[in-house]
Amino acid sequence: MKTLSRENLNLWLDGLAAQQSLIAPHLEAQGVFYRPVQRAQEIAWEADRPALSAKEFLFPPSERLLKVEKRGPDIRLEVSPSAAPQAIFGLRPCDARGIRVMDAAFLETPPIDSQYASRRENTLLLGLACRSMGASCFCTIMGLAPDDPRDMDVMFTDRGPTLAVQALTPRGEALLAGLPIVEEPGEVEPASRREVGGLPTAEAWKESFGDARWAKHGERCLSCRLCAYVCPTCRCYDVRDEALPSPPGEAHFERLRAWDSCTREGYRLTAGGHNPRAAAGSRLRNRLLCKFVYYPHQYGPAACTGCGRCLDACPVNLDLLEIGGALQEAAQ
Ligand code: SF4
Ligand code: SF4
Repeated sequence: MKTLSRENLNLWLDGLAAQQSLIAPHLEAQGVFYRPVQRAQEIAWEADRPALSAKEFLFPPSERLLKVEKRGPDIRLEVSPSAAPQAIFGLRPCDARGIRVMDAAFLETPPIDSQYASRRENTLLLGLACRSMGASCFCTIMGLAPDDPRDMDVMFTDRGPTLAVQALTPRGEALLAGLPIVEEPGEVEPASRREVGGLPTAEAWKESFGDARWAKHGERCLSCRLCAYVCPTCRCYDVRDEALPSPPGEAHFERLRAWDSCTREGYRLTAGGHNPRAAAGSRLRNRLLCKFVYYPHQYGPAACTGCGRCLDACPVNLDLLEIGGALQEAAQ
């Protein structure tokens, strides 16, 4: 196993933060969040997985896609500039998988999303293994683990005075070159795992489409969209054009995009006023079938990493594991 002393890791992170934006788990009044930090000392080393995922650093809650300036017959188009380099340190395996899931839609399936591609190209994923699974985590059901190194450029495992370190990509290897890494005998101890229930198969989710339970769940759902906004894989967005204040004789516009969610009441509203998902239960069903049926069918990976955040966030305690567990029982 390769290790790096905590002192050397801290020095290296301080140097990284001086060169580019360093994002890491940080303790704030409301909890621990991935935030830009200036020094390794600011990192919440002991924290469980952060309250929100890291998706906002690749897919911001709102952003300008382009600006148009019309001056007489001249039209000038200003596309948002390329992203600056950034490193996300302390990334948890569920959040790295969330990024991998977004890659499948934004990078690997045409058309490529140029804004996302620019950020992704300029982002290093530096993982930190969870010591154990949190109370709402179920990453193991989704084929991950609290110390799963896949989807990272570099994976660190905290061992107290030293951290085990593993480069997973050529970018990761290049990053670690020159660091005083030591070869030690033995293997990295695996993180502890907790027994969690199961979820229906994709086929069983699909067959649940006409199940009356969806309407019952819909009676509780507030369509508040919190579940989507905390989710590392929910990536629906809305695009709109806004007129900007312009000098006389000119017209300036900007095109904006912002996160949206299929649990919003008007999400599927069409011209003429028809809404094929007018009922909250049908919107909730769509969100979960998207995770386990539609998204894997269209893009490959399941769009759930088992991070458990939607279980923690839902104000009326709608719990994906309970919903799925009941459907699974009914299917047996
Ligand atoms: S659906 Fe819930 S548990 Fe799954 S990745 Fe999204 S927030 Fe996490
Ligand atoms: S399931 Fe819960 S968090 Fe999601 S929209 Fe409904 S009430 Fe809000």
